[in-house]
Amino acid sequence: MRVSSLAIASSALLALSGISAIAQSGRAAATSADSTPDPIKIAVGRLDFERYKANVKGLTQFGDRRQGTKRNRDAVDWIEAQLKSYGCTNTERITYDYQPVPRDTTGRGRGGGRAGARTGPRAAQGGGTPRGIRARTGVNNDSLAQPDAKLRALDSEPSVPGKRQEVYCTKIGTTHPDEMYIVGGHMDGIGWGEAANDDGSGTALVMELARVFSSPDIQTDRSIRFILWNNEETGTNGSRAYVQQRQALQGKEEPAGSGKYPEPKWLGMIQHDMMMFDHGMPHEDGTLSKEQRPEADVNIEFQVASKFAADAQKLAWVLATANDKYATDYPAAVGQHMTNTDSGPFQDVVPAISVRENDRGTQIGNGWDPHWHQATDLFATFTDKDFRLGFNAAQTTLGGLGVLAGLSLKK
Ligand SMILES: [Zn+2]
Repeated sequence: MRVSSLAIASSALLALSGISAIAQSGRAAATSADSTPDPIKIAVGRLDFERYKANVKGLTQFGDRRQGTKRNRDAVDWIEAQLKSYGCTNTERITYDYQPVPRDTTGRGRGGGRAGARTGPRAAQGGGTPRGIRARTGVNNDSLAQPDAKLRALDSEPSVPGKRQEVYCTKIGTTHPDEMYIVGGHMDGIGWGEAANDDGSGTALVMELARVFSSPDIQTDRSIRFILWNNEETGTNGSRAYVQQRQALQGKEEPAGSGKYPEPKWLGMIQHDMMMFDHGMPHEDGTLSKEQRPEADVNIEFQVASKFAADAQKLAWVLATANDKYATDYPAAVGQHMTNTDSGPFQDVVPAISVRENDRGTQIGNGWDPHWHQATDLFATFTDKDFRLGFNAAQTTLGGLGVLAGLSLKK
């Protein structure tokens, strides 16, 4: 067990050191011939702010997309149709069974043990130390908190235990089709709203990346899988099902000699969850600033207590560096307390990071997002400055993936 995980660790490390070689050779090429355009910059430039917003809007037509409902299944169908329309035509689905276990309804302690342990009496989820003013958090389970009667009706069908599906498509690498990065967001939500931010904003980002990477003239050395998890809100059950079903299939050519790899070897996992709202710390009275704070940032987290912490950290810095180079408005910050999202089930298997509007444990957990799991998580709640933060996260991840997967333009 120990030996094999070390072997995996060192080969993942090799892949990551390959990255810096690619980055350096790219840089050298750029300085020796200034006329050579940076293909990653060209690809990032194809991200479209209005399309990003339209993706969020499109997802909100299915209300909160709670798992185990028709509105959730309809959203999976819609996402799959969008992916195909971008040219990411090799869509597939994971099917699994979900049987809920009884738990409290406060939203606290959900998915216990998903990530790093709390380190002390005041430690936040994921292990950080909460600072400053804290506002109330929780999950809205009150239908009447939704004043819009039409949306309330749309969100009213209750979840039923049983079969679930989640969809993915894959950009096939040209020189290493047997290795891939996994890029995810979760498409399910809760709270009697539209789950616009949590996690329409992350799902929309992954969809927009899938669109750009599917351009016929873009190629990558390594493969990239775009996946929209289901059942995150019940405790990352959809991503856990993926790891359980597919971990052992990694790197196998099927059929032999075909050059096809149904499950390329995992090089890293990058999750996107709540991308838009960074209005700062709550005020003394528990309210939040109305506007995105000018110093808003994209928060990239790894889990310092995970088996792959060292390589996950490197992965985080690749994205932070890409943010410096390719994001137009907002900077990135790296933190060590990734928790409570679909990268958790991967963190002891492969380098895994999450990308968010705020640190999950000490900031979102301290009430920095008043719309989190609330009826106010609506498309109309957010302004362009909010959407712009999610868009900058898209630029950040696309830039990072361009380096990691070896993006080039076909001549
Ligand atoms: Zn979420």
